[in-house]
Amino acid sequence: MKVKMILSALTEAKSPFFRPIKYSLFPPLGLCTLAAYLSPDDEINLVDEHVEVLSLNDQPDLVVIQVYITSAYRSYQIADHYRKRGCYVVMGGLHVTSLPDEAAEHADTIILGPAGDAWPRFLADFRAKCPQKRYVATTRTLEGKPPIRRDLIKRERYLCPNSIVVSRGCPHTCDFCYKEAFYSGGRSFYTQLVDEALAEIQKLPGKHVYFLDDHLLGNERFANALFDGMVGMGKVFQAASTVQAILKPGLLEKAAKAGMRSVFVGFETLDATNLAEHDKYQNLNRDYGAAIKRVHDCGIMVNGSFVFGMDNDDESVFSRTVEWGVKHSIETATFHIMTPYPSTALHTRMAAEGRIVHNNWDLYDTRHVVYQPAKLSPEALERGYWRAYKEFYSWNSMFTSAGVKSDLRAQLRHLSYAAGWKKFEPVWDLLIRTRQVTRMLPMLEAVLAAYGRFQSPIERKGAQPSASQLLTADQ
Ligand code: SF4
Repeated sequence: MKVKMILSALTEAKSPFFRPIKYSLFPPLGLCTLAAYLSPDDEINLVDEHVEVLSLNDQPDLVVIQVYITSAYRSYQIADHYRKRGCYVVMGGLHVTSLPDEAAEHADTIILGPAGDAWPRFLADFRAKCPQKRYVATTRTLEGKPPIRRDLIKRERYLCPNSIVVSRGCPHTCDFCYKEAFYSGGRSFYTQLVDEALAEIQKLPGKHVYFLDDHLLGNERFANALFDGMVGMGKVFQAASTVQAILKPGLLEKAAKAGMRSVFVGFETLDATNLAEHDKYQNLNRDYGAAIKRVHDCGIMVNGSFVFGMDNDDESVFSRTVEWGVKHSIETATFHIMTPYPSTALHTRMAAEGRIVHNNWDLYDTRHVVYQPAKLSPEALERGYWRAYKEFYSWNSMFTSAGVKSDLRAQLRHLSYAAGWKKFEPVWDLLIRTRQVTRMLPMLEAVLAAYGRFQSPIERKGAQPSASQLLTADQ
């Protein structure tokens, strides 16, 4: 059987105003995971439209398309094209699960939720020539899943070819997150067996690993065992966590020992009313400053994520957030305009209040305002969003922020990481065009490791952090 698997381009990835490097970071792990269920005799052509040109002149037996909200229209276009040619089209992913009826108009079959058991059931039915229109994953487990088809990854086209996922979902329920809807009807947070995860990590070539899990530290027992098992592998890794998990005594230290060198943290807002309104309870009454200090003391960099446009945000939110990030020496920041994705609790509330302005999915990219904000005009919100990026990544801010650190290596690492990410766009573009982006991996590894072994302040003092340092709870 000829199978074509397509990760269609997000609209923003095709815009000349956005940064190609952002879309050349991670390979399409979801499709490689699905490919593992195909037969060795199947001929698989896996295309990631973010890094290669999609040819539409072929005639596969089965076309599989993974759909995100801002790739929905492009995905539908590709699906319609292949269906006209007589190919069988199956679609799945976050957007398909959010709006199954919309997607079903463009597919022969849709798969809802985390493919899990639904995908092999579909494949069996398809081979038996009796596929159904719709499959819903009912079994939620990663145990015994076949090894991901990493051989399908065109490694030279990605900065982080060693991306990996060892869990699914997250234990929290923020109202703006897709997670609840995507995993509805079953478990919404589960992990791989530790031994299987470690075996997969061990097999990855080179030092650098990027965990794409929503919350790698979400299951403390799993994370502890994983980090224990990674000690001595010589990896440096990046991952995501919550403020709550970072403040837990001991866990972050283990992560650092295992090789964690940067962590993505969803701070989202500095305003407690906003946090409560969006069910971000895991951040409520947590001392963000103490969390950042802990991360830095462990020799780990912070990528802080912030959302603008929550109902308690006014015109002052942009500069306040940037100043706070600079003051706390956050290395990189990711800003978002709040976006009520369909099927989320936030969308339901906003729709009931008549505040959704339009359903043009191309603009649901967290860079455009698609709802009526409470204390800001849509124009002021978009302007403030772009200004925040400009101010946070100005040379002045970067030097000031790096200067907050007392350790020279940490300062140098901060500057090279932030500037390397944001200030050398033409270099990234050239590397992407010439398919050399992976050549920057040793540089990334060197920066993450702070040009040699990073000795954290805790290690230097030979001291353990105090309980009060770990658990300060005033915000
Ligand atoms: S912590 Fe992150 S992944 Fe988990 S529900 Fe909230 S936004 Fe979603």
